[in-house]
Amino acid sequence: MTEPCLHCGRKSKPLFLAKDWNRRITEARFAYHRCPGCGLVFLRPVPENLGDYYPPDYYPVPGSLAELETASTNERFKLDLITPFVRSGRLLEVGPAFGNFAYLAKRSGFEVEVVEMDARCCGFLREVAGVTAIHSDDAARAVEDRAPYDVVALWHVIEHLPDFGPVLAALARKVKPGGILVLAAPNPEALQFRLLGRRWTHVDAPRHVALIPVRLLASHLTGCGFSVAAVTMTDPGGVGWNQFGWQMSLANFARGRALRGALLRVGALLSRVMAPLERNDRRGSAYTVVFRKDA
Ligand SMILES: [Zn+2]
Repeated sequence: MTEPCLHCGRKSKPLFLAKDWNRRITEARFAYHRCPGCGLVFLRPVPENLGDYYPPDYYPVPGSLAELETASTNERFKLDLITPFVRSGRLLEVGPAFGNFAYLAKRSGFEVEVVEMDARCCGFLREVAGVTAIHSDDAARAVEDRAPYDVVALWHVIEHLPDFGPVLAALARKVKPGGILVLAAPNPEALQFRLLGRRWTHVDAPRHVALIPVRLLASHLTGCGFSVAAVTMTDPGGVGWNQFGWQMSLANFARGRALRGALLRVGALLSRVMAPLERNDRRGSAYTVVFRKDA
């Protein structure tokens, strides 16, 4: 059965049925479609109980500020992607989980606000990390009355949103002229997706409801008055997601711990062999795009 593309409306044929191989919460199969026009890969129908596929341990909240500080040092590469364009000011992060990046940004001098749908994470962010946290699963509405931002960041969040277009448009309106919107997400043009298809761990059925090509995002945000300032798939985040992709996609074939461990090691080896190919022609597993709002 065809479904209209949620970006451009063209009739889109089913691409495959995928299971929740990452977390095995259900044995159900989920139908993904690919738009022949804009290349968007999307899940339809989106399960009405989507929240049930985020188990209580989805966010492993740190036990202390010291733990958060240690974890946040691994995210310095995200700041390094932002500071060539904006060095200070108001920063909004949507979907920070327990706040590795939000805390690091705060420590680096940004005035940080976050919108997060998980109540436990919000509590941790406010009480331990000292970050202003808005508890909401509707980012567009949550920021309606907030002052504009110098930076809006979405790290691997957009692919979880059933209707990303209006959310992006609302966030785009909240960026100051000259400010940036930075966005990282799985790449539906990745080499791994071509080779692994439905078994690619970054399909993450049913939690990932849209895999968005970079050019689609660019056309969407250009229409909102932005220009592409930078695109990378070879930053430490992208390279890490490549390795994660090989390892988890293979390990998900195993149920037993011993076989799983062996497949993780094979995946690590494979990621080193494939690295030169994945670094070419935007074929990496995940991209980060920096959009700058025209002054
Ligand atoms: Zn489309």
